Amino acid sequence: MTRPVILPGATLGVLGGGQIGRMFVHAAQAMGYCTAVLDPDPASPAGRVSHHHIRTGYEDPQGLAELARLAAAVTTEFENVPASALAALARATAVSPAADAVAVAQHRAREKAHFVACGVPVAPHAVIATPEQLAAAPAALLPGILKTSTLGYDGKGQAQVGTPAGLASAWERLGRVPCVLEQRLPLAFECSVVLARGRDGAVVHLPVQRNLHRGGILAVTEVHEQNMPPALARQAVAAAESVAQGLDYTGVLCVEFFVLQDGSLVVNEIAPRPHNSGHWSIDGADVSQFELQVRAMAGLPLTPPRQHSPALLLNLLGELWFARGAEPAAPPWEQVLALPGCHLHLYGKREARPGRKMGHLTVTAATPEAARATALRAAALLGIAPF
Ligand code: ATP
Ligand code: MG
Repeated sequence: MTRPVILPGATLGVLGGGQIGRMFVHAAQAMGYCTAVLDPDPASPAGRVSHHHIRTGYEDPQGLAELARLAAAVTTEFENVPASALAALARATAVSPAADAVAVAQHRAREKAHFVACGVPVAPHAVIATPEQLAAAPAALLPGILKTSTLGYDGKGQAQVGTPAGLASAWERLGRVPCVLEQRLPLAFECSVVLARGRDGAVVHLPVQRNLHRGGILAVTEVHEQNMPPALARQAVAAAESVAQGLDYTGVLCVEFFVLQDGSLVVNEIAPRPHNSGHWSIDGADVSQFELQVRAMAGLPLTPPRQHSPALLLNLLGELWFARGAEPAAPPWEQVLALPGCHLHLYGKREARPGRKMGHLTVTAATPEAARATALRAAALLGIAPF
């Protein structure tokens, strides 16, 4: 069935009211759409800036019916939305990405199987869902990382394991839930590709993003032509495109990669939505990942984004509010904003907690060197360790 293009003036809906939903709402509203957010939290970052905020659980039939009634199309801003909720919505309105694509991203074992089916290299791994699978885990995967198959994010639901006994006790600690044991790989660095795929299968993408994680959480993203060898960047884009095509994906997809010390590329995981590493595109590209999300769900043309400025993104985590004492205090915004090319984004979260994503800072400049130098000065002012 060909659906009509959804034009500005209509209402676009999103499941989830976090910062990604908030930036989606900003992009949709800038283009003249109304927005509807479903999130139970009355203070959710996206709910507070949306035309409509439905405050029910993600599986509440009335909340979902209300969202379907309001919105000409619905998308999601986090992958742990129950697939049943997407399926229920799809019976009443246009939903992208589709429930079955989100179900793959929700589940590490399924995700890995999909990568293998697409012919994209993955880390050596084994599924551990039963005591028999635990006993049979190949020793060659150690030292490794045991990751829960579902509900992990920002390094949560993971344990480093060095020995078979350590593996058994880590599985106990994780509650004997289905897991994937991955070999710990010698990383040179990490990168990601954000792409958008339309209903017609057309694909556009942002430039490949080089990512630095600290403690399992994204800390810094660097995007410019010199951030990695061009052949490697082309390989990452091609791999991301085949992952999207294999899912018959509609919407914005992020594919995260490891680059190993021998220069080879390994896919880590996917996010069926805009991604933290793509937030720089609001300030550094002529089409942001959030505008791509709007265009894809509305059936509008996807024009290739053009990066107009080298960009660095610094994540602003809750611990920066405690850099000067035990009582939370806002970082020195005035000094940071005195630096040229600094774009501050705060998500409207009331309470700062260590590890909580409170906002991000994008630094743009005429050259990669200048962007990096300014980002390092901003980091020093904020209490972020140099990179
Ligand atoms: P996200 O918030 O991105 O969803 P997550 O909790 O799903 O994170 P992963 O992306 O699996 O976790 O891992 C977090 C980080 O841990 C990676 O970005 C990488 O730095 C490190 N890591 C994960 N798996 C491996 C591995 N097999 N070998 C080496 N390092 C790894
Ligand atoms: Mg990750």
